[in-house]
Amino acid sequence: MPIAPEHLALLYTGPFDAYLYGRNSRDMKKRGTAGSVGDQLTEGRDICLENGWPIKREFADIGRSASRYAKREREEFEEMIAGIEAGDCRILVAWEASRYYRDLDVYVRLRSVCMAAGVLLCYNGTVYDLSKRADRKATAQDAIQAEDEAEGIRDRNLRTVRLNAKAGGPHGRVLWGYARRYDPDTGDLVEQYAHPERAKIVKRIFERVAAGETEYAILHDLRAGGERLPGIRWEQHHLREMLRNPAYKARRVFQGSDIGKATWPALVEDETYDAVQMIISRPERRTMRSSAVVHLLSGWGRCGECETMPPLRVLNNRNYLAYQCSERFDTVMREDKLDAYVVEAVLDWLGSKAAAAAFSSTDDQERTAAARLRGSQMQAQLDEARAQAATFGPDGQPRLSIQSLAALEASLTPLIAAARQEAESVTVPPLLRGIIGQPDIDAIWEDMSIAQRRAVLRAVVNIRLMKARARGIRTIEPGRVQLTFAGEPGFTSG
Ligand SMILES: [Zn+2]
Repeated sequence: MPIAPEHLALLYTGPFDAYLYGRNSRDMKKRGTAGSVGDQLTEGRDICLENGWPIKREFADIGRSASRYAKREREEFEEMIAGIEAGDCRILVAWEASRYYRDLDVYVRLRSVCMAAGVLLCYNGTVYDLSKRADRKATAQDAIQAEDEAEGIRDRNLRTVRLNAKAGGPHGRVLWGYARRYDPDTGDLVEQYAHPERAKIVKRIFERVAAGETEYAILHDLRAGGERLPGIRWEQHHLREMLRNPAYKARRVFQGSDIGKATWPALVEDETYDAVQMIISRPERRTMRSSAVVHLLSGWGRCGECETMPPLRVLNNRNYLAYQCSERFDTVMREDKLDAYVVEAVLDWLGSKAAAAAFSSTDDQERTAAARLRGSQMQAQLDEARAQAATFGPDGQPRLSIQSLAALEASLTPLIAAARQEAESVTVPPLLRGIIGQPDIDAIWEDMSIAQRRAVLRAVVNIRLMKARARGIRTIEPGRVQLTFAGEPGFTSG
């Protein structure tokens, strides 16, 4: 187990001659965490002073990139390694894990030198004895994390360079939903960013369309909310152009073709955008009138008595509305009664395990099973390697070198994490995301528009209305309404 510096003298015999090692990292200013090399050495001196460790030498790695400095640093580093190997010190004191390791290679070298010479390692206020397995593991994890952070910084820099080179940023008129910031001195465009209010409206419009709401309903609400621009009210063509514009998912379009990722932020997720494209390209959506619907089940709930299963239509009786077979008029039921029955059954079903299972496709199931298997195989491989590294052969050396183990851990750990994540992921259509398996499903339903409710119902259930056994029966008899849910045999979507 790692130990606190003040307990070192209780467990080990001194003297604890110390080497101090301070190191600059290039991103230090940005992270704002670490002080200069000088600060680190001061901190190291304090630890040595408090615990009575005599300071043997100090090594400062100032992180300059100019080659003559780099050369001098390499020489100092080599001197430090040689000193450790020669048994010149008992403990190496540094300030933070990331200061030790330029990358995993340097770390592996430093660690094996300390291990071979029986030198203790102290950083972050903790002392590690590398002859112990738990300490080797803890320091290995710190090193891998330090390297991972460094990689992240490198990736971010590369991305920026690529973006600037390729996309070139926005030009032309400002797209509705965005705003631009200009340099007050030069007048140059600094960035195009999401407009604080309008961006939300854009996002909501896409989501409502993806959820099956009609353009009519959306346009109505937009007009109620105000003008699009001063003096210009919302028109349907505004909506149409918006819904087809890939710039909202941060793609740059040049002369009609998508030339790559844009420099501005996306207002709409790719999945939502794609879902919207599918919906707006459906032929029945082209006319406004057909999309203004007020009944939950009309046009898609079906008569179960006729062979062709004609859709139900709404019959306006004198006192009430009813659904009726649109072809032979052989089935009929009061609208409020059938709506209530169907909604109750569907909300129950949406909260059930069957609902979640229905929307994990066979592809999902195969994919997640494969990911689970892959993850456990890699985990077993790593466990085996760790066991090997903790077992010693007749020559007193571990059966697997610490170098090999560290390299293996570095390559397998992120892969195992990725496999675990994939094993748990299931693709749910955007329409049903945030609905399936939610505990407060009734409240969510209350908040939905009738168009959204219709879309949800259509996605999860098939309805067949049958004839009543006798006239005047008020309750819904068993078998009168047949519901087939998604995932059950015979369910058809659409
Ligand atoms: Zn019929």
